[in-house]
Amino acid sequence: MQKVLITGAAGFLGSHLCDRFINEGFHVIGMDNLLTGSLDNIDHLFPNEHFEFYHNDVSKFVHVPGNLDYILHFASPASPIDYLKMPIQTLKVGSLGTHNLLGLAKAKKARMLIASTSEVYGDPLVHPQNEDYWGNVNPIGPRGVYDEAKRFQEAITMAYHNYHGLETRIVRIFNTYGPRMRVNDGRALPAFFSQAIRGEGLTVFGDGQQTRSFCYVDDLIEGIFRLLFSDYHLPVNIGNPVEITIQQLAEEILELVDNPKAKIIYKDLPVDDPKIRQPDISRAKSILDWEPKVSRSEGLKKSFEYFKAVVKPS
Ligand code: UDP
Repeated sequence: MQKVLITGAAGFLGSHLCDRFINEGFHVIGMDNLLTGSLDNIDHLFPNEHFEFYHNDVSKFVHVPGNLDYILHFASPASPIDYLKMPIQTLKVGSLGTHNLLGLAKAKKARMLIASTSEVYGDPLVHPQNEDYWGNVNPIGPRGVYDEAKRFQEAITMAYHNYHGLETRIVRIFNTYGPRMRVNDGRALPAFFSQAIRGEGLTVFGDGQQTRSFCYVDDLIEGIFRLLFSDYHLPVNIGNPVEITIQQLAEEILELVDNPKAKIIYKDLPVDDPKIRQPDISRAKSILDWEPKVSRSEGLKKSFEYFKAVVKPS
């Protein structure tokens, strides 16, 4: 049986990856320091004899006994308010944590996949963003702690690949949504759903004309799975290229939740908030034969089911 280590296992994406690898017949070791993750996301896996959980901070030290075939590094605060609150931890998990895991991968001769991000493109001057674009990042702005940690993570991963011959994979993840997003993580989608369900104002930042492209979590997990088992070591964008304004997203969620007390309100735009974002997924299409399958209306409906169950009325 092949063994995979998934860091950030109790988080949104990490927990979905644990499910996928268990379903595919792997032995899964989940690791998390529970800074932003929640055991609720993986509770259902504990009875499974092929699932183990280590409560551990990968920025400090990582030890896994025995053999290991794959490592997927998904530990990190990932929403703008989280990394503003935890700037040092964010920098450390992307840099020191990645270094520790690359060392582990080298010792175990494991293949390592890192979770990079569309944030490496910053506030992009090229649209849509393809993997050859180097980005427009403000290193000392509030988002710098996340963006630069992830850029360093890519750099050190490539160095281990080139210098040590380590098998590595780099996925650049664009905005993703679905069940198990933390209700209060501050991102647009959980914020709008919880505000609409509670009958509060949906807090659109700025004039709401900034754009994002939202990918349903099942599509993203499929793309990551294919990338891991491909023989391609350069970065690959995984995301849904259907781009919408944040205003439109708020309107769609208002309509879906259909709570007459909820309405849109406007707040200041955060510093360095990217104005546009859309993945160019030509590389994923040609190398992985992958493209998203879940439409936004279907994905939003599934997400609504989840948020209805977890959002407490105010
Ligand atoms: N946003 C918003 N209201 C919120 C949270 C976010 O209008 O309550 C905006 C935010 O300014 C950004 C977009 O929605 O332009 C997506 O933000 P999110 O935090 O979801 O992710 P990002 O893509 O910025 O990392």
